[in-house]
Formats: sequence, C-alpha cells, structure tokens
Amino acid sequence: MANQADERQQIVGDLQAWIRQNKGQALEWFLDEGSRPDVIPVTEPQNGEKSAAPPNESAPAEPVVVTQKPTPVAPSRPDPAKPEPTKSAPVTDKEAAFRLACDAFVNETVALTKRQAATHPVVPIAEPLLDAHQGDAAAAMAALEKEVRPCTACELSGSRKQTVFGTGNPRADVVFIGEAPGQEEDQQGEPFVGASGQLLTKILGAIGYSRDDVYICNILKCRPPNNRDPQPNEVQHCEPHLKRQLAILRPRVICCLGRVAAQTLLKTDLSLGKLRHTVHFYEGVPVMATFHPAALLRNPSWKRDTWDDVRKLQALSEALQPEGN
Ligand code: SF4
Repeated sequence: MANQADERQQIVGDLQAWIRQNKGQALEWFLDEGSRPDVIPVTEPQNGEKSAAPPNESAPAEPVVVTQKPTPVAPSRPDPAKPEPTKSAPVTDKEAAFRLACDAFVNETVALTKRQAATHPVVPIAEPLLDAHQGDAAAAMAALEKEVRPCTACELSGSRKQTVFGTGNPRADVVFIGEAPGQEEDQQGEPFVGASGQLLTKILGAIGYSRDDVYICNILKCRPPNNRDPQPNEVQHCEPHLKRQLAILRPRVICCLGRVAAQTLLKTDLSLGKLRHTVHFYEGVPVMATFHPAALLRNPSWKRDTWDDVRKLQALSEALQPEGN
C-alpha cells in the first residue's frame, strides 16, 4: 500500500512539474481543488500536444449517448516541423479510445459540413455594417455594439445595469455562446467574468487559445432577473443581435456553453448528454455543446468530459481551416 501511495505521489509530482514547465497552457483548471483525481496517468505530450490526460474519475450526471463508433483512422495532422518527444509514456486505453473517437468525429463532421454546404446552402446574412466599414470586422462589431447598447426590445432592459454584448476577436474561428449574463457580467459589462469566467480562460489555455483568439458572447445581452432561464419572447427579440454578430464573425465552429444555451440556440429539448455527442448546425455553422464553466465549479467530475469536448472542438476548428492555412 505504501509503495502504491509513493508511486501515486511520484506521478502527481511529475505531472505538476510538467504543468509548471508548460505554464499557461496546461491543465491547471483540471487540478483545481475538488477535482483532483485519485490517480493521474501521465501521458507525455506527443507530436506537440500540450497536455496530459487524467482518467475519467466519474460518470457525468447526465446520460451520455455516443453516436459515433470509433473507427480506426490515422492520427490527424502530425506537424513534421515539431520535434519528436524524447520520452513517451504509454497512452492509456481510455486516451487511445478518445483519440480514435475524436478523429472519427472530426472526419464525419467535416464531411457533413461539406454536404450541408452543397445540399442546403445557407445564404449568409448580409450585415450592412460590414459594408459600411469596408469589411473591417472590428469596426463593424464596434458599431453593432453601439447599436445594441441602448436596446429596449424586451423587458430585460428595465432590470439590467448594462447590456453585455460580447468580447474577443471579431474574426475568431471559434465562438463560445452562453445563455445570458449573470450578476457579475451585468456589473462589468463583459461575458464570462468571475470564477466561471476564470475557469473558461483556463480551459481555453489548455487547448492553446487565449480569450483574444476566440469570441465569447451570450444569446441574451441583458441579465434575466435572478439568473432565470431566458424566456422565448426574450430570445426572439435578442437573437437578431446574435445573428448579426455571427454575420460579422463568420466563425468555423460554435461551442454552446451549458444545456440552456445549447437548447435555446438549437431550439431543442434534448439533454446536454445527447447534444454533446453530436454535431448540430446554426446558420450553416457546426455547433458543439459542452458544460457551462459554472456547472464545472459545482461538479468538478464533469471536467474530464469537458476536456474531451474542447479537444474535439479544437481539432474540428483546425480541420475546417481552408487548405493552405
Ligand atoms: S435582452 Fe436583448 S432584446 Fe432584450 S433588451 Fe437586452 S439587448 Fe434588447
């Protein structure tokens, strides 16, 4: 028993040392207090991967429906410019299964996206502000924010402190969408601040993104009283703002943060467990769903599934880059 405990301590120590060496890009978010798994198998980064993979310490609370059968495909896009690692630990069975499932998901989604574009072409919303600013997305987004700021189209304008428009790169490939601002967001005027925002920043860092690389916003731009779920009439009035944001952004992938955001955006009542494992489309853009960071703070055991989701998201975003990039 003592040897086993020493061995675990050694493994955890090795992982922490590796994380320190890769500061800002690793899995500190995974190791926050309350989420520390009993045993962490160390997987040395391979082909430029930035992280180690902890085990699935517990099943998610919601049922998970796996719709993709893992099919053996070659590991995607090894970068010949990057040096081979000097040392490699064995990849766990769980990690190997994840990589196969991830590659299958990405390949199938890329094919589906192409089929969608060919058979159901979506006419992109023409955003007049883009024309008015000669295609300058940053200027168009700033002008749209100015338009939305005084919006009184629904009753939430009466209880908000300010509108919370969105933040990040106005030409981001990946857009994260939550349901609505909370109290801190309403105070600060920025989406995903406070503890859940900090966790989102760490999750992004773990897949190599900063908040400035992506765009982050909510479906509703004003805080519902007591953080209740968005009402259909509020969504109906606010969604045009989101569509105009997306018309400027033209993202490759959308990631919904949380069940409510995913159900509201996709107009479905499917559980998050089901939504997480299939790709969906919104205005012709592939949509994935994962847990809301606030839910991860309450239930750290869901971080394992979130880690898999965001790795898939990152792989999909890369795969959807135009050739030559
Ligand atoms: S929630 Fe949206 S539609 Fe309602 S007042 Fe705010 S910006 Fe306008």
